[in-house]
Amino acid sequence: MSDPRKMLNADEALEQLLGHARPIAEVEHIHTTHALGRVLAQALVSTVTVPPLDNSAMDGYAVACADFKPGEEARLKVGQRIPAGSVGHALEPGTAARIFTGAPVPPGADAVVMQEDCTVEGDEVIFRAMPKPGANIRRAGEDIAAGSEVLPAGVRMRPQEMGLIASIGLAEVLVYRKLRVALFFTGDEIVMPGETLEVGEIYNSNRYTLLGLLEGMGCRVADFGIVPDSLEATVEVLKQAWHEADLIVTSGGVSVGEEDHVKAAVETLGNLDMWKVAMKPGKPIAHGTVQGTPFIGLPGNPVSAFATFCLFVRPYILRCQGGETVTPRSYLLPAAFDWTKVGNRREFVRARLEPQADGAPAVVIYPNQGSGVLTSAVWGEGLAEIREGTAVARGDRIKFTPFTELLG
Ligand code: AMP
Ligand code: MG
Repeated sequence: MSDPRKMLNADEALEQLLGHARPIAEVEHIHTTHALGRVLAQALVSTVTVPPLDNSAMDGYAVACADFKPGEEARLKVGQRIPAGSVGHALEPGTAARIFTGAPVPPGADAVVMQEDCTVEGDEVIFRAMPKPGANIRRAGEDIAAGSEVLPAGVRMRPQEMGLIASIGLAEVLVYRKLRVALFFTGDEIVMPGETLEVGEIYNSNRYTLLGLLEGMGCRVADFGIVPDSLEATVEVLKQAWHEADLIVTSGGVSVGEEDHVKAAVETLGNLDMWKVAMKPGKPIAHGTVQGTPFIGLPGNPVSAFATFCLFVRPYILRCQGGETVTPRSYLLPAAFDWTKVGNRREFVRARLEPQADGAPAVVIYPNQGSGVLTSAVWGEGLAEIREGTAVARGDRIKFTPFTELLG
């Protein structure tokens, strides 16, 4: 076990935390309709070919290109009509088949001419354009071949995965069960929105940020509310939380002040692995166990809680959920600012991409990077990294991670 009081850099902290993540073992079958945000516990192999048959991509006429002579107007008799959902018969030479989008292309036809390029005269159709073989035909299996793996285990399902699963005919999927996360918030000064704010009090914004972050990741959240700044109260809530949860997440009370009781409370019931991370926002982060249940204590400052969740708790949870991808995608982009203050903590600044005179994006940062300034996170589109020990001059390339890579 590491020395809990050692200062870690952000990479070491993440590595340590991920080393403790234990994937959920329990799986369950659910309806594909409920798969949004869930993580597949099994690779999915298609038993069907998608699309099942060569079919038309247009409303128009299925033809054989051999019936067309270059430079001559083609005039073919319409021999059959094939709406979607029905199957035609083999195309007789010198005829065309009226066909609609999604209908199977009849044997003998090798192109579909869209109706906008055709004129109908009685039972004949005149073609203005010479078709190319294969035109407007969607080939059988061009999306999915029978027997192929469409999704590996560990994928978190988005709407498009749900559609893909449905397209191979699966009404149910095997997923990991939802991670149960117990959440509470420390601070005598914290009150719930809807209540009247007395002097010295502030609203519990972290509850909403963290609830949104956890629910966005498909967790089942048990909210234990606001806990006063006392050792007894903190121990009491930990005792309730640990046996109902796979993970306990808290905000506030993890500094080393007299009013910070989370550390002592966790140590009463378990152990604490990690303490300070050389980063801004968010220096104090606690990780340990309470009666064997993993515990992560986040700093109370609203931007710190948000950023440390995105950078540490999210990848940890992804791994606990059985997810495969834990590294968010970042981009090296030019800074549109100067950063002269060289620090010994890595700064994760709320930033946006803005097109410069030549149209190429550059990283712009919010003027107030205070760890309590939640408007910076709302204004921002992501986090830009200022490495410890470095200054940044306008035009230097810095790492930018969009929020789309850090949420959900
Ligand atoms: P702490 O980590 O407990 O020292 O808190 C650091 C700062 O974050 C203090 O200014 C707290 O008032 C503030 N804070 C703590 N918890 C919350 C919360 N749930 N919502 C909003 N601000 C908070
Ligand atoms: Mg506090």
